Amino acid sequence: MNLFNVYPLMNITPVKAKDCILWDEEGNEYLDLYGGHAVISIGHSHPHYVELLTKQLNHIGFYSNSVQIPIQQELAEKLGRLSGYEDYSLFLCNSGAEANENAAKLASFHTGKDHIIAFKGAFHGRTSGSVALTDNPKIVAPFNAHHPVSFVNFDLEEIKQVIAEKQVAAIIYEPIQGVGGIVLPSDEFIQELRKLCTEHGVMIIADEVQSGYGRSGKFFAHQHSNIQADLITMAKGMGNGFPIGGVLISPAFEASYGLLGTTFGGNHLACAAAVAVLDVMEDENLMDNAKKIGEYVGLQLNKFPMIKEVRGRGSMIGIEFDFPINELKNNLLTKHHIFVGYAGTNVIRLLPPLTVTKAYIDKFINALQTEINIIING
Ligand code: PLP
Repeated sequence: MNLFNVYPLMNITPVKAKDCILWDEEGNEYLDLYGGHAVISIGHSHPHYVELLTKQLNHIGFYSNSVQIPIQQELAEKLGRLSGYEDYSLFLCNSGAEANENAAKLASFHTGKDHIIAFKGAFHGRTSGSVALTDNPKIVAPFNAHHPVSFVNFDLEEIKQVIAEKQVAAIIYEPIQGVGGIVLPSDEFIQELRKLCTEHGVMIIADEVQSGYGRSGKFFAHQHSNIQADLITMAKGMGNGFPIGGVLISPAFEASYGLLGTTFGGNHLACAAAVAVLDVMEDENLMDNAKKIGEYVGLQLNKFPMIKEVRGRGSMIGIEFDFPINELKNNLLTKHHIFVGYAGTNVIRLLPPLTVTKAYIDKFINALQTEINIIING
């Protein structure tokens, strides 16, 4: 049987990984500044992570949500403390799209309304429920899912208009648009949006699937805007590669049996992975490191020719060039053995493990300098 061929693959087979480094079958070394779509938060194969997962596997790997699973409570408590959302509740699921679908559903149940507002350029997932929450024409669902969606600009007047005309349950937004090219709404805009939503009984869903879990230098990126969201979705970095997602739910929401559900959500192994991530984030001050790395990259790249803008927060960085970067991205990988991501045609996206050091960033900057010199000198 063949695999259904939906991913363009790089011609590299990683067989081993440690912290920010990957090795292929021939023993070649690669620097990972992409973390498999922002997934690797505490570095590959961190010893504490390996230890907690192994221990858990030796006890019990899985049983359903019909029994007591104490490690779920341990995770909820650590997450509440580190994120500052101690009075919120946690619903556990398996991916970012699933987290967003559940958040939209909760907003709808809670408000009795069904319309969702999302922003142009947003990306919230690819399942039939969440795919409706992206305006990317390449991945629009062939059938709409459960919520009618209006796509808007970062424009309060436009949002007021939609709220006046539709039964709006929620506004979903990425505090830093990832797939959209590391685009940030201003903090002032988000503060005004918070006021507007509170006034009109509209829930704010902060999609922190990519920007959350310490990557921005704060636990959640929306916390830079000094607001609280009603629902916060997360996945990616949460399990450092072990599939897990979740929704943080404000105390205003009431839980009842059967309201939400999933077979695998919150399984023992996924929770062990997520607990290990939080332990390491705290022990190694990774949020602080993410912040410092972001500042360092900004400072270094400001001097570069052919770069239009460096955007982002902490270790979620977009570098916009004044030319299409496809060849540059390929050269960074094949000639310099550095993994980076991209968004659109002109933006290189860096989403390194939060353990990344200045020395690794210097390696990237030197490689970039070499490639830019080649372009400039023909
Ligand atoms: N939300 C955002 C902001 C994302 O970046 C992604 C994935 O890239 C998703 C949701 C979907 O997450 P998943 O692929 O785990 O379903």
